[in-house]
Amino acid sequence: MAYAQNLIAALFISFTSFSQSILVISPEILDLFSLNHVFAHRKIPNDNAMYCESWRFTVETNDIGFWTLIPQKCTSFVQDYMTSGRYSSDSSAVADQSLAFANTVNVSNDGMDAWIFDIDETLLSNLPYYINHGFGSEIFDEVAFDKWVNEAEAPAIPASLKLYKELHQRGFKIFLLTGRSEFQRNDTEKNMVYAGYSNWERLILRGPSDKGKPATQYKSEKRKELEDEGYRIHGSSGDQWSDLVGFAVAQRSFKLPNPMYYIA
Ligand SMILES: [Mg+2]
Repeated sequence: MAYAQNLIAALFISFTSFSQSILVISPEILDLFSLNHVFAHRKIPNDNAMYCESWRFTVETNDIGFWTLIPQKCTSFVQDYMTSGRYSSDSSAVADQSLAFANTVNVSNDGMDAWIFDIDETLLSNLPYYINHGFGSEIFDEVAFDKWVNEAEAPAIPASLKLYKELHQRGFKIFLLTGRSEFQRNDTEKNMVYAGYSNWERLILRGPSDKGKPATQYKSEKRKELEDEGYRIHGSSGDQWSDLVGFAVAQRSFKLPNPMYYIA
């Protein structure tokens, strides 16, 4: 209320000055719109929701770098984010921007225009697994997760499935580049079909020589091999920065949201 009164008073002073043909920007106006004023008069609540929203920002921008578990006090925040429609909305926004870029690409008929997709939390959602494992607040259980992968029943992220189909229709060759291992090839293919995906050009998994490599190195090497084959990698989609950075990077990279876990 005081802010509104100050604004009216300041505008009146300015108008008076202007009516006298003297163009004056009053100090009151400058003060009202200065950053100092905004921050000085805005009470920033220091509650969990605000903290967790800012934490999530640092995750998605990779400002946070390496992290292992979501903060305990953010478990319900991440749960809400993942299940309330926000995650779905953010995923759709990323897919929309991806398609907008894809529409600017002049796809050749030589079959060498490529788009790379990561799989987990990019094309397939492991949310049914994470609902039962604390949304990323529990230490990763490789045995339990492999069992889940073995079931091959992860659903598609709807916006990603739609994007995938649109890209294929536009003539892009689609490569699946995942951190999953060769022994999971059959389960992965089965799950992709179960979720509605088809017509990928190649499924690339970690082989014996890739074991122990950081994801950024492994994925960069595989992209480089595709480039050496002559493919033009226009787009790359992944929920981890390690899906997207390194060398032989795509012309445009698209980061999907994932506040549940981090892969270096
Ligand atoms: Mg992933």
